[in-house]
Amino acid sequence: MTLRVGIIGAGPSGMAQLRAFESARAQGAEIPEIICFEKQAEWGGQWNHSWRMGLDGSGEPVHSSMYRHLWSNGPKECLEFADYSFDEHFGRPISSYPPREVLFDYIKGRVEKSDVRKYVRFNTTARWVDYNEGTEEFTVVVEDLTSGETETHVFDKLVVSVGHFSVPNVPEFEGINSFPGEVMHAHDFRGAERFAGKNLLLIGSSYSAEDIGMQAHKMGAASVTMSYRSAPMGFDWPGTTRERPLVNRFEGSTAHFADGTIVEFDAVILCTGYLHKYPFLPSNMSLKSKNVLYPGNLYKGVIWQQNTNLFYLGAQDQYYTFNMFDAQAWFARDVMMGGIVLPPLAQRNADIDAWLNRQAALESHNAEADFQTDYLRELISATDYPEFDLDTVSELFKEWMRDKDADILGYRDNVHRSVMTGTMASRHHTRWINAMDDSMERYLNGDSQNVDTNAMATLSGFGQSPLIA
Ligand SMILES: Cc1cc2nc3c(=O)[nH]c(=O)nc-3n(C[C@H](O)[C@H](O)[C@H](O)COP(=O)(O)OP(=O)(O)OC[C@H]3O[C@@H](n4cnc5c(N)ncnc54)[C@H](O)[C@@H]3O)c2cc1C
Repeated sequence: MTLRVGIIGAGPSGMAQLRAFESARAQGAEIPEIICFEKQAEWGGQWNHSWRMGLDGSGEPVHSSMYRHLWSNGPKECLEFADYSFDEHFGRPISSYPPREVLFDYIKGRVEKSDVRKYVRFNTTARWVDYNEGTEEFTVVVEDLTSGETETHVFDKLVVSVGHFSVPNVPEFEGINSFPGEVMHAHDFRGAERFAGKNLLLIGSSYSAEDIGMQAHKMGAASVTMSYRSAPMGFDWPGTTRERPLVNRFEGSTAHFADGTIVEFDAVILCTGYLHKYPFLPSNMSLKSKNVLYPGNLYKGVIWQQNTNLFYLGAQDQYYTFNMFDAQAWFARDVMMGGIVLPPLAQRNADIDAWLNRQAALESHNAEADFQTDYLRELISATDYPEFDLDTVSELFKEWMRDKDADILGYRDNVHRSVMTGTMASRHHTRWINAMDDSMERYLNGDSQNVDTNAMATLSGFGQSPLIA
């Protein structure tokens, strides 16, 4: 009987799994029967952004935590697919930090080219999963959100690719319930325009606080305060931005910080991270983890230890994204199709422990980038995913972190070279701080009436042309 594979979620991870099978099919392999359930009407996961917050029209929690004006926060050269380059998609060099819509177009381009949409059941959410130890089959109950009908499907292998940046972690703060202004989690943040002229408090000290804070600065916030629990981020912030230790309590619109300072705010955004949450899985198959580079209980970061028919993609914290999901999907595919034979449980445990021990000893962001690089190297070397120069990508992560330290508002104006094609990115026509229109049209075609003179000055200062081949 043909192998039956169920995939839950058609974000970049689920799309990678579809692409991995398609790649095997193109080489003449007989691939499994595949159904991918996606609760939204379109694929792309986080990159399929909408203005909605809270619940969508079907009563489902809105998935994407992204916002208007989101530009890639890492160089695109670090996430490029090894089998589908930016050059191939756009036909010319583009900048290193494109906006959301441009990256969405890129990830869609690859799967649209490979005719895998037919496997996806859109507007269909996974409601519950059971596993029968005797028959070694998964029963997956899904709901068609358009008709309201539930259906049951049976699979031999199940891939969980629902992401883990959608369910907000919401800590309590004394007095926050009577804060008179707006209070929200970063998950529901959609744009910073309405914070122009306002004093904004962000609680948290990671990517969300950093990026939403600088979005608010860009859109004219009067002040941005970021409150940290353990350590400040310490970037060279603009003058109206500052970091303070954690908020002890609120009194009306006034926040009392741990260092004894007291400040009045107009709005509060909790940038306090996300939870791993899999409401359709019984607890014995549900990953419980913090946002770490190597969650426990997953062999090679992918395969559930107690049931090797269950696969998780994209469940780790991410330096690498799209190409890491590919490496995982290719590995999962080969395990499912028998090309990779798994070692026994004890050996798998030892392998996980070795990675966890190494993770526990990581002391810097540079070491973390190297750690995830080695993880990718191991996965890629086990499959036929095209190899690429991972050491150079790891160095690029480090350069990116140095660039952020040097200029938190300007790092996105830098350009980097693709390790896939050797192409140097083009310098964008508008500096990020001045780029108010994040549409793909404006990004690709610019606007000759509205040349960013600051960007041009920077370019001539560096003696570089806008397209550096
Ligand atoms: C604010 C923000 C900014 C980011 N910025 C960047 C960036 O600049 N660069 C970068 O590389 N990465 C960035 N990321 C990381 C991003 O998460 C990954 O790029 C990528 O989207 C992860 O892909 P995924 O498929 O694992 O998960 P997701 O993109 O979250 O996709 C999961 C999919 O599963 C579906 N789903 C969920 N539950 C169900 C269910 N029960 N049934 C059916 N379908 C379901 C969802 O609808 C969604 O389509 C950012 C993330 C966030 C939150």
